[in-house]
Amino acid sequence: MKIIIIGSGLMGVATAYYLSEQGHEVLVVDRQQGPALETSFANAGVLHPSQASPWNHPGIALQVLKWMGKENSPFLLRPRAIPSLLSWGISFLNHAKPNKFQANLHSNTVLANYNIQCMQDLQKQHPFDYSANSLGSMKVLGNEQDMEKELASIPLFESFGVECTVLNQAEIFKKEPALIENGENLIGGVHYPGDQAGDAYQFCIELTELAKKNNVRFEYDVTVQKLISSGHAITSIQTSNGAYTADAYVLAAGSYSPLLANSIKLKLPIKPIKGYSITLDMTGWETKPRMPVIDEEAHVAITPLGNRLRAAGTAELNGYDTEISAQRVQLILDQVISRYPAAESYSNEGDISPWTGLRPTSADGVPILGATSFKNFYLNTGHGHLGWSLAMGSGKLVADLISGQNSAINISPYSLGRF
Ligand SMILES: Cc1cc2nc3c(=O)[nH]c(=O)nc-3n(C[C@H](O)[C@H](O)[C@H](O)COP(=O)(O)OP(=O)(O)OC[C@H]3O[C@@H](n4cnc5c(N)ncnc54)[C@H](O)[C@@H]3O)c2cc1C
Repeated sequence: MKIIIIGSGLMGVATAYYLSEQGHEVLVVDRQQGPALETSFANAGVLHPSQASPWNHPGIALQVLKWMGKENSPFLLRPRAIPSLLSWGISFLNHAKPNKFQANLHSNTVLANYNIQCMQDLQKQHPFDYSANSLGSMKVLGNEQDMEKELASIPLFESFGVECTVLNQAEIFKKEPALIENGENLIGGVHYPGDQAGDAYQFCIELTELAKKNNVRFEYDVTVQKLISSGHAITSIQTSNGAYTADAYVLAAGSYSPLLANSIKLKLPIKPIKGYSITLDMTGWETKPRMPVIDEEAHVAITPLGNRLRAAGTAELNGYDTEISAQRVQLILDQVISRYPAAESYSNEGDISPWTGLRPTSADGVPILGATSFKNFYLNTGHGHLGWSLAMGSGKLVADLISGQNSAINISPYSLGRF
């Protein structure tokens, strides 16, 4: 079958790879000059079944109100964005009810565990370098209240197959000696040995090369303007390079997926949530961090990627704005310095590679995968803050569905039909 995939971020490339393995003729189109140049470019790099919670957890509404308009808050809702968020926002808050949150967390964790399996299978077959780190991840906690909350969540995560080890202060320093120098205010943490990390951009570049060996074609600098339908099928896509036709189409355009779906009057409950990262070269550091650390209080993940240190975080509801705010970047740099004082000497923009990306966030915090009301039109989108943790699993599920193959896990909890 001839299949066009819109988007060459993590989702587009993963889907293309698996579809090509299953013998399809695949074309990927993207408006950028190469793969993974938008949200998949410089994320925090953690593949974490342990953190698969949707952001709309019980209590989120009060937290967002408390932080509204505060430039230095980790979750910032800009009042001017509110009108564009209305129906999505109501659904987002509705999914924060405890029973819904737990069901959505379960769906994400199942997919994240499956994703780790897919990554391991791929690495066995095609070992390539993407600055991978398999020491797990560690959440560090600075007060009793956060520690108690974390401990209370452990039985649930364990029941979903996530391994957790509770650590006292001495034990977190043993796992991550780079924390000792400035870690006096940390009281403990949790190690999640099943988590992994790696550079998503490097991964996409390598996976693109593998897909090309399977004859997948990639066309860059091609902007898809709209989808054209007739009855219950897509007949073509209209692009800056003319019309393209195929037997089937996969939409993997990240935060821009709902805009394209609108052209065929298909509503996708996805909104962009902006985040930032910085990347420091650790050459010359006496004690280099060795594993990903999630700082609960600061809402920042700090991940060693080879000789580089990536720190990412903050969430901002501000439409499709992708301007870089120096203040938000500084917030992240300050957090890194507060944990790793060696970062203090990095103050120029050129030293820290500030970056921003838009997380395509669905109203329930679970990705939207698979079939639509158009018989030849499929989705692989809406992964929010978890796209790296879910990409290969999602790509395989969507490819299996298109090819009519049995899949290892049930795709229905991720279908658009749930809304
Ligand atoms: C600060 C930050 C930290 C994060 N950290 C983590 C983490 O540690 N772990 C984790 O699991 N996830 C993390 N994420 C989330 C993860 O990065 C995303 O979920 C993932 O990258 C989304 O991938 P995607 O393929 O859906 O979208 P994208 O990577 O944005 O890809 C979509 C592609 O579609 C193309 N496109 C869009 N519109 C059009 C059009 N009209 N025509 C042609 N092409 C088009 C774009 O050019 C782009 O290449 C983080 C995100 C951010 C912002």
